[in-house]
Amino acid sequence: MVFGRKKKKEADQGAAVVGGDAPLPALEIKPIGINKDEATGLIIACKQLPGYPIALVLIANAISGRADRILIDYSAQGAVVRYRLDGMWETLPAMDRASADAALVVYKKILGLNPAERRARQDGKFATNFKDIDWVVSFTSMGVPSGERVLFSIDRKKPLLKTLGDLGMRDGMQEQFKAMMNGHEGLIIISAPATHGLPTTWRIALENADKFVRDWVSIENKKDADPEIINVTQYFYEDGTADTPEAVFEKVRLKQPDVFVLPSLINGDIVESVLNQINTEHKHAVTRVVANDAFDAVIQVLSAYPNHAKSLIKVMQGVLNQRLIRRLCDNCKQPYQPTPQLLQKLGIPAGRVPKLYNPTVPPPPEQRVDAKGNPVEFEICKRCNGRGYLGRMAIFELLTIDDTMRQAIAKLASKPDELRKFAKSRNHLSFQEEGILACALGVTSLQEIQRLMSGK
Ligand SMILES: [Zn+2]
Repeated sequence: MVFGRKKKKEADQGAAVVGGDAPLPALEIKPIGINKDEATGLIIACKQLPGYPIALVLIANAISGRADRILIDYSAQGAVVRYRLDGMWETLPAMDRASADAALVVYKKILGLNPAERRARQDGKFATNFKDIDWVVSFTSMGVPSGERVLFSIDRKKPLLKTLGDLGMRDGMQEQFKAMMNGHEGLIIISAPATHGLPTTWRIALENADKFVRDWVSIENKKDADPEIINVTQYFYEDGTADTPEAVFEKVRLKQPDVFVLPSLINGDIVESVLNQINTEHKHAVTRVVANDAFDAVIQVLSAYPNHAKSLIKVMQGVLNQRLIRRLCDNCKQPYQPTPQLLQKLGIPAGRVPKLYNPTVPPPPEQRVDAKGNPVEFEICKRCNGRGYLGRMAIFELLTIDDTMRQAIAKLASKPDELRKFAKSRNHLSFQEEGILACALGVTSLQEIQRLMSGK
């Protein structure tokens, strides 16, 4: 096994990815988007290739280890393989270039790509089933100055996370946010920094909205459309065709939907049309933006459409932002009693939180020795493999925009820090405060909240 922290020495010394006669992992990779006969032919041909076992093991080990990304950097020196687990990259023992090349030939061939092309970007998708779970793996390869870089994104075919609670949203906030989503005559913004899980939260927010009594439609760019969401009818505009955003919006408007879902606000004309729908037809709209916090999201939307800023502020009802953090492993987290000074610093009233938790992180192998340098057995938690954390969750910031807040936004839109201060004075909870609440519930650690606040 490549992934995980083996105690055995050879794992640390760059063991080969596949042992000589090790059995192949029980999975197959099947290209998606290629006709069935062609796909079968490609699979049969690839099974004969020397790199086939390595190609399978890299994927199987990533899935077994709960990684959701694999990154392989090819350079003259060799190939460096990294797995991403709970948002953190871990480097695997070095892989020799010949084995890594052989695996890459398999991936490219099975996806109908050109193995000889090592510079231009190539993309493909394959499906796999491992331990009774279906996975979809996106593959991208492209030349970089040091050689070639290959990225795999591994997703469950049927998403595991289904509710806002699954994401880590506390109950009180769920009620508030659902009321916002199911409200009328307003604009809701869903946001997160890059790589902080915005697509997942967007999907779950829409899936959990009330779509049975109201018609939800989305207007999306055909070239990067979102996955389908039940009971949200998708309409697509396409650059260079008669299906311009304006034409599609007009077509959709005539169907008189209740809620417009706009992954992007597209352009000033569309913003104007949406504002009209909200103000004269009592419609609702939801959009999303990559932003560092709720205030940043508001400011980004306003500065993208300065001519409509005033009208946009009038219809804004709420903004959700989120950042991902790691969950403590329940099996090995260590309770400690916070000092009164610490509680005071965290703004927690005395006596409210008897325990906080730290992760259990075993010392590195070379330090697992006694005073005489003799090795000491160190038990490593089997559930989290000694990482101290298991899985991720989101910390949410939910900004409710009422008339007082609207006035403040109009006045302070160019001064985000003052805007944040004003919101705080009205009991708006920032990430830091929401994070401390999560620590008090024992689901994460203060270190993890510090990491989140420092933007690492
Ligand atoms: Zn553990």
